[in-house]
Amino acid sequence: MVIIMLGAPGTGKGTVAGILKEKLNIPQVSTGDIFRKNMKEGTKLGKLAESYISKGKLVPDDVTIDIVKNRLDEKDVENGIILDGFPRTVKQAEELDKILESKGKKVDIVVNLTTPKEEIIERIVNRRVCSNQDCKTIYNIVLNPPKKEGICDKCGSELIKRKDDNVETVEARLENYFEVTSPLVEYYEKKGNLYSTMVSKTINKLGQDVAKELVEKLKNK
Ligand code: AMP
Repeated sequence: MVIIMLGAPGTGKGTVAGILKEKLNIPQVSTGDIFRKNMKEGTKLGKLAESYISKGKLVPDDVTIDIVKNRLDEKDVENGIILDGFPRTVKQAEELDKILESKGKKVDIVVNLTTPKEEIIERIVNRRVCSNQDCKTIYNIVLNPPKKEGICDKCGSELIKRKDDNVETVEARLENYFEVTSPLVEYYEKKGNLYSTMVSKTINKLGQDVAKELVEKLKNK
């Protein structure tokens, strides 16, 4: 099963994907996480990615598509994958379709999360992520705080704030989303595999609730 997580930054893609990964036992592949890992390790890819990410810009398509293409060749994703943060451009979506087609696969469901803009900024600024790469649980220090400040409930590792989670880059990231990523909503709507849902405190629905809804839906698929 190929699941795509779509939505502006801060809508809860990572939270939903993290829960689906555990419940459905399918690997979660986040292009953002791959870039951050490389940035931490100081690789050539990391240095290149950092020059874009620090400005809130998208990493070029050719670089990003290559990473996903190679990742899709690995054995652990043969039976399914949750793509979190990819595709982000129509070009990436088209290339993904070609790669999947060559493997006799297709995108099964595109989960499109929407959140009011003011809330997105608040969510990004309040986001903390578990520093343990095998855990990566996401918290919101206001809406979904850890039991002990700064410590992950699940694995006890330190929680960190992503470097790009600041008010300066968030506007650029949102602009990217509305200009180049949001056309993907129409792209997948036409293909008939779009599942849109709102994540917002105003309707008392957070990532955890969406994940629950999806697990039920996908179990019956
Ligand atoms: P994320 O963790 O998904 O919020 O991604 C963090 C940053 O990595 C984004 O703001 C982009 O700069 C970059 N990035 C992640 N995924 C992609 C992608 N599919 N295409 C281009 N840039 C990406």
